[in-house]
Parts: sequence; structure tokens; C-alpha cells
Amino acid sequence: MIEIDRLEKAYGEHRVLQGVSLRVERGEVVCLIGPSGSGKSTVLRCINGLESYQGGEVRAFGERVDNRAPSIHRLRSRMGMVFQRFNLFPHRTVIENVMEGPVYVKGEAPAKARAEALELLRKVGLADKAQAWPAQLSGGQQQRVAIARALAMKPEAMLFDEPTSALDPELVGDVLEVMRQLAGEGMTMIVVTHEMGFAREVADRVCFLHSGSIVEEGPAAQVLGAPRHARTQDFLRRVL
Ligand code: ADP
Ligand code: MG
Repeated sequence: MIEIDRLEKAYGEHRVLQGVSLRVERGEVVCLIGPSGSGKSTVLRCINGLESYQGGEVRAFGERVDNRAPSIHRLRSRMGMVFQRFNLFPHRTVIENVMEGPVYVKGEAPAKARAEALELLRKVGLADKAQAWPAQLSGGQQQRVAIARALAMKPEAMLFDEPTSALDPELVGDVLEVMRQLAGEGMTMIVVTHEMGFAREVADRVCFLHSGSIVEEGPAAQVLGAPRHARTQDFLRRVL
């Protein structure tokens, strides 16, 4: 479903991604781990066409991802993205945030979009907050709304960039639970995370990124439980 082949990305002289290759099949959950600055966010941004790249190729759903091509909007709408900072619209209620994409981007009828949004809020455990303002919610609740909002566009894959890193520790669990449920339903997911428990339990595969290269990749139990590469071992010693 998503194929990255020898991806090269540089900012000026700085080679941020140096030949990253990764294949994600439909229904797979892949966790990307690695130190800060290793290029994890850049990989996600190249996948959904928020960044250009200089070499190699990114393909999604069989199409080349090219952030200057007119088709990029359609391609991007097939992937949902959730960031570290839940950027909800502050002047719209929770349910309006979830309806926004279907109504304004897809032209769905508001009544239908509202019913679907409520269903999604129920799914993330926030149906009772439909009429609340984002500022009235905790960070974890806001992040669950952000997930519902991404799902409202009926994406075929979901990209998560450290969705729990900005949350107080006691709020992390509810967000991971929603993601775990989504994985269980067969959603294709690429998750950048420092939550090793989640990765171990939910990921089909874990990729360890270091200085713009995937230095180790394999089943979660192997990469996290018995890492082969010294850099992976060193990283895991620090975060576990
Ligand atoms: P990670 O998500 O693993 O922390 P990033 O993908 O955000 O890493 O960044 C990888 C490297 O690219 C870092 O060294 C970062 O400073 C650099 N970088 C990211 N975005 C930009 C940008 N817009 N301009 C210049 N350098 C950038
Ligand atoms: Mg990042």
C-alpha cells in the first residue's frame, strides 16, 4: 500500500534521509522509532506529500507521491495524519471539528456528516463532548478528537507522528487505546512513537531509524526484545 524506495531528502547540505526503503502492506501496523532528529517526521511528511524529495521514490496506493503534482490533494486525502500537537479549530465545537472535512472538502450533506461524526466520537469515547469547545477538553481528549477528525475523511491509511508525546502521562493510555482499537480493525498504520509498550504489543513491524537510515527492521518482538544493531541496543537502553 505504501512503498518507499531509497528515499533521499536533504535540506541544503544536510542529508536528512539517506536511502530509506520501507514497504507497508494493507492492514499492517509499522512503528518507526529512533532518536530525535533521525528523520522520522520527515519520512511521514514525504509519504503524504508535505515534503518534496531529491532521490528515490515514494508510492502510495500504487501512485507516485509528488508534492508538486495536482493529484497530491486527492492522494493525501486517502491518508489521515495525526500530529504531536492536536491542531483542532478552537472556534468550532468538537463535532464541528470532526464534520469540517467531510462537509467542506468532500461536499457531504451536513446532516449525514454530523451523524457520522457522532459515530466517530462514540468510537473514541467522546460522544458526550460533541458540543464542547476544544479548550474545554484535556490534551488526551483533544488528541482523540483529532483522530476522529482524521477518520472522518475515511482514510485508507493513518500516519501518526508522536501522537502522545505532548500529553501528560496519565492521558496517554486512552489515546493509545483508540489506536490499538483502530489497528485491531485492520487499519493500515505508520506510527512514530516512543511508546515501546504500544509498539511491542501492536506493531507488526518496527523500524529503527538513525541519522536518516533504517538500521534495523523486523518483527516488534525481535527489534525491541533482541535488537541486533548496536545503535538500536543503545537507543532502547536509553528509552526503556
Ligand atoms: P525526527 O522526527 O526523527 O525527530 P525530523 O524528521 O523532524 O526528525 O528531522 C530530521 C532532521 O532534519 C533534523 O536534523 C532536523 O533538524 C532537520 N529538519 C527537519 N525539518 C527541517 C526543515 N524544514 N529545514 C531544515 N532542516 C530540517
Ligand atoms: Mg519528529
